[in-house]
Amino acid sequence: MAIGDRILNCDVLAESGFLDDVVDRELLQAPTLNPFFAAGRETWRAVRTRISQLLREGGDPAFRERAHERDAIVRMAEARVHLPAEVGDYVDFYSSLQHATNLGKIFRPGGDPLMPNWRWMPIGYHGRAGTLVVDGTPVHRPSGQRRPPNADAPKFGPSTRLDIELEVGFFTGPGNAIGTPIPVADAPEHIYGLVLVNDWSARDVQAWEYQPLGPFLGKSFATTVSPWVVSLDALEPFRVAGPAQEPAPLPYLNASGAWNYDVHLTVELRTRQMREKHLGAEVVTTTNFREMYWNMAQQLAHATANGAAARPGDLFASGTISGDAPGSLGSFIEMTWNGRDPIVLPTGERRTFLEDGDEVTLRGWCERPGARRIGFGTARGTIVAQ
Ligand code: MN
Repeated sequence: MAIGDRILNCDVLAESGFLDDVVDRELLQAPTLNPFFAAGRETWRAVRTRISQLLREGGDPAFRERAHERDAIVRMAEARVHLPAEVGDYVDFYSSLQHATNLGKIFRPGGDPLMPNWRWMPIGYHGRAGTLVVDGTPVHRPSGQRRPPNADAPKFGPSTRLDIELEVGFFTGPGNAIGTPIPVADAPEHIYGLVLVNDWSARDVQAWEYQPLGPFLGKSFATTVSPWVVSLDALEPFRVAGPAQEPAPLPYLNASGAWNYDVHLTVELRTRQMREKHLGAEVVTTTNFREMYWNMAQQLAHATANGAAARPGDLFASGTISGDAPGSLGSFIEMTWNGRDPIVLPTGERRTFLEDGDEVTLRGWCERPGARRIGFGTARGTIVAQ
């Protein structure tokens, strides 16, 4: 559990018996959070309440004594982070109206930017769980098949249009049996919490391969996830209503109540030259998760509507999060309008897509008067040459 620049080691808490009244020790001593996710919302809440009691000023003196020992509270700077869960299945949606509209304008100028199905269901694809990586993992520039403009035949080689996608993802809890969909109203029992996700994308590979079956090798080489899963319970003060949905969704997607979350998001870019000159990162995007058209409850209901099973620790990502304002776009293909308008950095360097040595950092946080600020940590990756 992240607390400022420290980590509370729940393994030690469990081993020392401080949580015995609320949870089996093994659930918090496993190498991943999958068993904890599987335990369900009652357990999640009981553990959260118990730990806040322990951390409260004047709390359990035995805990305060134990917390002073070296392994109980660890400096984040001295720790190595890991993926929070072993992810069995990974799905990526396409749920930002602004992003879907921008890409439609870029790829199908003159036509209706949205496909006719877009306002009727959360569009998504099944991604590659095996290449999810945690914050800080280098990203190798992928090679792939692509067809340069006006070329007769495709070529194979390193992608020249390497991009990011700023996203937020949710981890699932207990899951459902095959054949038993999760209704929208039950989503709170099935979603543990949120992470930041960078869905790295090779646009040239993607553009050539995607028809008719959708994203494949243009996205499966790496997807970066932040290491701290922020629970829906912790995010409760930041729950907000989403945008109006028109036309009204079909009944199985009808979500009443506030199902969006007010999460501030930024994308930072720092090139090798910026690092060598000791320049800080440049914020290239500032946006918010709250405007997503399709919400998580609808995404999970849709993903299981055919009876498909979700299991503990599956990851469902939102799709690229873009806003209306300039400077709020969640991918370089949008920021540079498909490479037409390069970004100029403080070093004078220009960027359309990513170069080797470029470091991209996603950050997320929630804050409002009267509520405790919540940080999501980072999802960072540096591009390394093949
Ligand atoms: Mn994506």
